[in-house]
Amino acid sequence: MKPFNNALEQLKKAAELVELNKNIWERIKKPDNVLQVSLPVKLDNGEWEVFEGYRVQYNNSRGPYKGGIRFHPKTDLNEVKALAFWMTIKCAVVGIPYGGAKGGITVDPKKLSVGELERLTRAFTQKLVGFIGSEKDIPAPDVNTNSQIMAWMADEYSKIKGYNVPGVVTGKPLEFGGSLGRNEATGLGGFFVFEQLAKRLKLNSKKTTVAIQGFGNVGCNLAVFLHRAGYKIVAVSDSQGGILNKNGEEMDPEEIMKAKKQKGQIDGCYCRGTVCDCLNFAKIDNEKLLQLPVDVLVPAALEGAIHEKNAGKVKAKIILEMANGGVTPGAEEKLNKKGITVVPDVLANAGGVVVSYFEWVQNLQNYYWTLEEVNEKLKKIMDEAFEEVWQKKEKYQTNLRMGAFALALERIERAMRVRGM
Ligand code: NAD
Repeated sequence: MKPFNNALEQLKKAAELVELNKNIWERIKKPDNVLQVSLPVKLDNGEWEVFEGYRVQYNNSRGPYKGGIRFHPKTDLNEVKALAFWMTIKCAVVGIPYGGAKGGITVDPKKLSVGELERLTRAFTQKLVGFIGSEKDIPAPDVNTNSQIMAWMADEYSKIKGYNVPGVVTGKPLEFGGSLGRNEATGLGGFFVFEQLAKRLKLNSKKTTVAIQGFGNVGCNLAVFLHRAGYKIVAVSDSQGGILNKNGEEMDPEEIMKAKKQKGQIDGCYCRGTVCDCLNFAKIDNEKLLQLPVDVLVPAALEGAIHEKNAGKVKAKIILEMANGGVTPGAEEKLNKKGITVVPDVLANAGGVVVSYFEWVQNLQNYYWTLEEVNEKLKKIMDEAFEEVWQKKEKYQTNLRMGAFALALERIERAMRVRGM
């Protein structure tokens, strides 16, 4: 699977829809800058291992490059390019003044000790120093990266510069310039978007069932907000497997998280447990979870979860795409034909970058907001973005993804034009 090819397929469709200017198309179909680095790291046993890292700066027409850092054994340049492109679209969809970027290291971080992980993160930051910066390119967490890793990045960058630069990355711990609400922002943003859709479709929360694939930062937080609002979570999963409420038992995501955390953490950084440690429920595998007869299906793990081969088996009525690239273009065509509504990643999971933007603004001002202020501002942006995407969908008589892309491309095109391209 080549995620960047999927991204370009989506872009091409949207460019035709909005009749994108040819020069703008030529620029936006390629990333601005690509950095590929080797990262030699001394392991605890005295041996050295050389890892590969990437940073792709896709487009900065609307503001500094912005996007997360992924640590995963399958991460490669093609994936990082796709993720950087989707960030460009996402920031434009929610109207925040950023372009798009992404980074990653090909590594299974759970096989490293905490010391090795820190040395790897610092080595990557050293290579990125000339590339990133609070006015230039601002990384954040993504799959397998968290506030601790962001703290090491900001610390290493600050040491090299000789003064504190908290605004160089977002998703930091509260003790080092983080923002209240950032940790749960992607899940909460997805919840706000879903509530807007639920209003339009007149869904009754108590009668609406939800299955979620991926129980990390995004999947777990979204589950908590849905559960609190009365939606019925019926299945959740992670990379080790899933659980299902076969007999209709209540699934409380906070209880599941508690059970998952009981096995403790790998060197204080990653959870050792799995949702399967919650023994009150029947087991289900990841593929079966995607085929459950639920109202809402949420891919919240990695790209390509719903692809051409399994799309025909999806029985949900709505897909809330929290994972970037969770649904491939071929799958989406099949889902649309079956009348399934897909709320696209570039809208559904944009809450994370919105609160990253708030964190950055607070860092630059050195003035910090309350959780209420953060969440109120997040809701306003997510609600407006949903409305604008919906209007574009109506205007172009298309689906929500193309509505979102149309909104974003029009904004990016206007920025490029006023800047002289
Ligand atoms: P995470 O590392 O916190 O969690 C990932 C979860 O997915 C874990 O529960 C993991 O076990 C599970 N998983 C991994 N491979 C799986 C597989 N093959 N099948 C089932 N589950 C699997 O990552 P996250 O931050 O929650 O990110 C999840 C998705 O959301 C990614 O696509 C990411 O790009 C996207 N996203 C994250 C943020 C953010 O703020 N963290 C923002 C926007 C988008």
